[in-house]
Amino acid sequence: MTASMRMRGNMHTRVEELADEYLDSAVILLSELISVPSVMGEASEGKPYGEACAAVLEFAEQELSQEFKVRNYDNHVITAQFDDREPELGILCHLDVVPVDGQVWTTPPFEPDIRDGRVYGRGAIDDKGPAAAVITAMRIVRETGLPLKKNVRLILGSNEENGSADIAYYLTRDKFPPMLFTPDGNFPIISAEKGMIRYAVDMPADIEINGGSVVNAVPERAEAVLPCTDLSAEFARFPGIDFSVENLENNTMRIIARGTGAHASTPEQGKNALTALLSVLSGVSETARFMSQAFPYGETDGASLGIRCSDPKSGGLTCVLSIAKTEGGSIRFLSDIRFPLDKRSCDILTILDQRLHGRDVFVSEPHSVDEDSDFIRTLLDVYEDVTGEKGECLAIGGGTYVHDTEGGVAFGAEWQGSDNHMHGADEFIGIEELRKDIIMYAETIIRLCCEE
Ligand SMILES: [Zn+2]
Repeated sequence: MTASMRMRGNMHTRVEELADEYLDSAVILLSELISVPSVMGEASEGKPYGEACAAVLEFAEQELSQEFKVRNYDNHVITAQFDDREPELGILCHLDVVPVDGQVWTTPPFEPDIRDGRVYGRGAIDDKGPAAAVITAMRIVRETGLPLKKNVRLILGSNEENGSADIAYYLTRDKFPPMLFTPDGNFPIISAEKGMIRYAVDMPADIEINGGSVVNAVPERAEAVLPCTDLSAEFARFPGIDFSVENLENNTMRIIARGTGAHASTPEQGKNALTALLSVLSGVSETARFMSQAFPYGETDGASLGIRCSDPKSGGLTCVLSIAKTEGGSIRFLSDIRFPLDKRSCDILTILDQRLHGRDVFVSEPHSVDEDSDFIRTLLDVYEDVTGEKGECLAIGGGTYVHDTEGGVAFGAEWQGSDNHMHGADEFIGIEELRKDIIMYAETIIRLCCEE
């Protein structure tokens, strides 16, 4: 064993001791963060994302300003760093959360509850728990007394769940440090994210069709209103979909289709109620026939649109018809398409425009980071040392907080095989997970910023 390995081993033990010592304070900090219901609200003077998002940043500013150099970017973002030097490592977290509308929780979502070794509350895993872990890790690094050769900047945003306008604002005032990670994804590392297109098509409303509620999900429910016809023989073709029919006035009826929702980046896990309904209706509606030929039920790779493609790293293109909304004389359809790393949006859009004559409403190019950099190799080393498991870089269909940054990766904080109910009812973080996160991030800072 070399002297430097021995020193590293001693330091690891010291970090573990400090993590045990600081764990209660991390749980208290997380509980305080959860207590601020930081769902996006109406903008007002100095509060770009509403009262509660400004309040959670102001709380964090208070909490950190004794120990760190803190700066508030007009309540879009706050930053905290060890000293005034130009930072070389950036850690990007967010303190805003998604709403709890329609969810049934065991305990109130904004009153943190500790039970069964877990902290329950909205934001526990996304992303307040990971933020509390990073803050605690920074405190531990300071307590070790190790000299920091490189400065660290924690960046706490407040608009991740609604388009990351916080980051756009921050970038008008400042830049990201050259090494950047976010604990707002999964372990080990997410280094590649597919590109995304959201595409709108307007079609004549020859009957009334509505379905889906958010563009980034397989729609669970869709319905149509049309003159009474017997379509029950059609229903049998879709065993995964539950159809029901209600008779309405004036010899009309409503058909309701219920399937299974899924995230648009993993559409094969869902059963699309809207595309099933369109297929059922294709004998009675031109619009339904056209759309169901372009988006056949059960197809999630865009084959019928002519956009099927894949690359070895990120896998295949995914395509979901997610929303239909009838308004006035037309139906607006929205689809969500995730395309592989080796394509640009224009490759896909050219084909969609020819086939569907619609328009893009949102476009984001793929994001990928060189896996052979010293930065990524160090993160993987830390992961392997802390967990004893093999580290690897992953590619995903979703977009993380670093999607539009140069060279940023997601590093945690969801552990493989654990379901923390992110965005759902009874969201939680395990206290043991929180402890491991603290150790991981403290070791990361030490390895990247204290060692040679
Ligand atoms: Zn998040």
